[in-house]
Amino acid sequence: MIFAHDTEVSLASTVALINTAHEPQDLTTREELEAFVTAWEWTGSRTHDDAEFRQVLRLRDRLQKMWLAPEEELVEEVNALLQDCRALPQLVRHGKWDWHLHATRPEQPLAERMAVEAAMALVDVIRSDETERLSQCAADDCDNVLIDLSRNRSRRYCDAGCTNRMAAQAYRARRTKV
Ligand SMILES: [Zn+2]
Ligand SMILES: [Zn+2]
Repeated sequence: MIFAHDTEVSLASTVALINTAHEPQDLTTREELEAFVTAWEWTGSRTHDDAEFRQVLRLRDRLQKMWLAPEEELVEEVNALLQDCRALPQLVRHGKWDWHLHATRPEQPLAERMAVEAAMALVDVIRSDETERLSQCAADDCDNVLIDLSRNRSRRYCDAGCTNRMAAQAYRARRTKV
């Protein structure tokens, strides 16, 4: 494991949120937001309205820019998110999750809780000097971002099947180039 368990889960959920913006887009309706929140087991208060949905989409854009930004800019944005949402780290445990950090209160808006969870995970990445693990899929027709949690930082493709797709493409290219 490269980071603490809760950090790795947060990074994975942040990647999943950012990648809903890319094909196949799967955060285009409030119903799809419900599915996302359920899949990633978000607890806490919800309003289930358009305002909440739009806040999540705005956060998604912001996180995507942060993911690929130079380190100085990333740091500024992480600090801004923590400050804007008045983050206050507290150890909690609930359900099947043992002690981990929450830095927001359950009654804060969903997008703020998502923002702070992403920011707290990025704090770990930045202070471990591991920001090169934040990257983008190397397939030329794929815009997905990824978090490289491989020991030797060798991951190039996202989870959306790009590894297999690029391998098949390379294989076909070799066969036709006789
Ligand atoms: Zn929790
Ligand atoms: Zn990809």
